[in-house]
Amino acid sequence: MFLCFGIACTNMIGTVYKSTGSWYLVKALDGTFYECRIKGKFRIIGIKSTNPIAVGDAVEFDLEQSNNKETGVINTIQTRKNYIVRKSVNLSKQTHIIASNIDQVFLLITVDNPPTSTSFIDRFLLTAEAYGIKAILLFNKMDITKGDSILNLNALIEIYSNIGYECLKISAKNGDNLEAVKSMMKAKTSMFSGHSGVGKSTLVNTIEPTLNLKTKAISEMHQQGQHTTTFAEMFDLSFGAHIIDTPGIKGFGVVDMDAAELDQYFPEMFALKTNCKFHNCQHLHEPKCAVKAAVSAGKIAASRYKSYLQILEGEEAHFRTDSYDTA
Ligand code: GDP
Ligand code: ZN
Repeated sequence: MFLCFGIACTNMIGTVYKSTGSWYLVKALDGTFYECRIKGKFRIIGIKSTNPIAVGDAVEFDLEQSNNKETGVINTIQTRKNYIVRKSVNLSKQTHIIASNIDQVFLLITVDNPPTSTSFIDRFLLTAEAYGIKAILLFNKMDITKGDSILNLNALIEIYSNIGYECLKISAKNGDNLEAVKSMMKAKTSMFSGHSGVGKSTLVNTIEPTLNLKTKAISEMHQQGQHTTTFAEMFDLSFGAHIIDTPGIKGFGVVDMDAAELDQYFPEMFALKTNCKFHNCQHLHEPKCAVKAAVSAGKIAASRYKSYLQILEGEEAHFRTDSYDTA
């Protein structure tokens, strides 16, 4: 229940499209954009973050008049379905929420131009699993992928589609399969990720040629002058899709987890875990390990198991996937 006192009280509902830390651009249900602020301290239980509100948040706000303009004051943030974070630069253990309520993330992959390694793909998928965000693999530049590269690519598609990840061959340049990408995007909020040069901007611009202009118009409209930092931003596309763009933010965020829970995020390994002799099997040197048996039998891809080991042994259970860009 929401109680109103005094003047100009309308509890509105909307989605945060842009956040600069001091103000938020919120799109109300009727499609109107309002510049909103928050009053006082606004803490969310359970999240130690430097920013209370992020792009993608569903919020409630009141309208008020300031300088002959209707602006909003956010009073409630609805429970987040998921959110992606990066660590704050200081060591306060605080996180910065980049964006929330993301339905799916598309990873663009090119086999050799630039090369995308399986260990990179697996780290990305691990992060998406840990965040609870659906990941879809788009194999781009099919128009120039030839010979052995096709074989390598088909082998990758076999591995990942067997695990249950959707895989699609596309060409952002000549439009191949982009209608399928668009239909997957409809009525959803998507992000695009992948190494620099895989074709993220080309893809987004081919899908929505006017987006370049829109991006420019919005940033000019809200130009603060002194701000050089870039922030995540949500955009509506003409066919009823939403995308979150994170310029200047490296990667798809960071996940902290215990080594013991790592296998939860490798679905094909987790599915076999109950068959391991030890319930807390880490699939290393334990006897009667169903995961290792499946790797030996070729039922789990050797490259996936290798990634699992690399991550387990490599970074003291602190997993970074920020060696690439998002678009
Ligand atoms: P981003 O860094 O991921 O945003 O990549 P860009 O969209 O800037 O693309 C990098 C380069 O790859 C550009 O020269 C694009 O023209 C090219 N490119 C992108 N998609 C395709 C494609 O499907 N086929 C071919 N042949 N080139 C592409
Ligand atoms: Zn095991």
